[in-house]
Amino acid sequence: SMASPALLMRVVASAYSVAEKAATIVRNVMSAGDLGIVEKAGPNDLQTKADRLVQMSICASLARKFPKVTIIGEEELPTEDVTEDLIEDGHCEEILKKPCPAQYTGIKEEELVIWVDPLDGTKEYTEGLLDHVTVLIGIAYGGKAIAGVINQPYYNYEAGANAVLGRTIWGVLGMGAFGFQLTEAPAGKHIVVTTRSHSSALVNECITALNPDHVIRVGGAGNKIIQLIEGKASAYVFASPGCKKWDTCAPEAILRKVGGKITDIRGNSFQYNKEVKHMNSAGVLATLRNYDYYASRIPNTVKESLVP
Ligand code: AMP
Ligand code: MG
Ligand code: MG
Repeated sequence: SMASPALLMRVVASAYSVAEKAATIVRNVMSAGDLGIVEKAGPNDLQTKADRLVQMSICASLARKFPKVTIIGEEELPTEDVTEDLIEDGHCEEILKKPCPAQYTGIKEEELVIWVDPLDGTKEYTEGLLDHVTVLIGIAYGGKAIAGVINQPYYNYEAGANAVLGRTIWGVLGMGAFGFQLTEAPAGKHIVVTTRSHSSALVNECITALNPDHVIRVGGAGNKIIQLIEGKASAYVFASPGCKKWDTCAPEAILRKVGGKITDIRGNSFQYNKEVKHMNSAGVLATLRNYDYYASRIPNTVKESLVP
């Protein structure tokens, strides 16, 4: 008889379905019209009813199936409030059929850390920039991002009523990345993608120093990594604290699977063990190609302004 699928593949297969349920919640809260906006640290750090419900849905659904896995979500919420209608117990059969990379077959539940951003791009969600929004489920082992699911609930929302709304991108290091068309950015052009709602003098100084041909300002860390893997931008540059481990874990796994690289502005890689500090204090630099070109042009003054 067939051996049962490796834990990692079962976690990814479940995360895929959990992320699709999350996307439904994100769309339902918006269409119901009451976002229930709460300010966390300030007016640019928001939480909506969708952030709350999705966090409960993802964390409770995964915890029920994988009780010994460490799950770290962005929102601080009481777990008692989770109602049964928020639980997703399905999984993606396609993913379960794929072979687990040999180096990950022996992973135990206690060794996995799942980083959850229930809704990345909340500010943009509240402003109706719906395709900036993603749901991020990143899976880490040995401090490294090894698998990730990115759901974009409003993918295609401006493509007309016949277009399929929403998509799920997923990937496992050493195996593959799926749900999108890997596309190179225009050759010889430097297109920088950065924050739309969390700019600062330093953020702008850093971008100016890179002398880009074009700058794209959009919300969401997940969304910006999608811009890299679909050839819309050549570098994601954010010289500021503010972005957290749940913003980068799932995107990092998918970006690395297709040959990209992500570090802080000073070139340090991110760690994702459960004890790590949540804040990516020294910012983000990510590319699909030509990482060294951008890294070598970040001014020392910018690097020295950001303390890891
Ligand atoms: P952005 O590119 O502005 O959408 O930021 C990417 C991610 O980092 C989002 O989840 C933001 O909420 C978060 N982030 C970045 N800067 C800040 C900040 N100054 N305060 C709170 N969250 C931030
Ligand atoms: Mg986020
Ligand atoms: Mg969020």
